[in-house]
Amino acid sequence: MGGFPVYRWRLAPDGLATGRQLRAAGLRPGGQDVAAQIERPRRRRGPLIAYLYRLDLAKPVRPMTPARRAALAKANAARRCCPICRRDAGYVIPASLGMCTPCAYPDEQRVA
Ligand SMILES: [Zn+2]
Repeated sequence: MGGFPVYRWRLAPDGLATGRQLRAAGLRPGGQDVAAQIERPRRRRGPLIAYLYRLDLAKPVRPMTPARRAALAKANAARRCCPICRRDAGYVIPASLGMCTPCAYPDEQRVA
């Protein structure tokens, strides 16, 4: 058995939440150990058990990881790439143009 306290259902102290409650709040245990356990007595069966985690150690469900950051950067780069000249425009291609401004307005660029 673990060395964590066991509470009666609904009598757990503040600052603790079940995994289900964490998910509802957009959080996850984040690798922390189970802080406590609550038991809900049931007839003729063993008690329903839920594990509690510390809210102050919980982490957001989708943290920004290097892999996620790279995937986002790639997606952003694709949105900045002009489909006409295939260059990185340096900004997200406006959906209204569908291409970078030098391709959309070649005459104006020449004047400038
Ligand atoms: Zn272009």
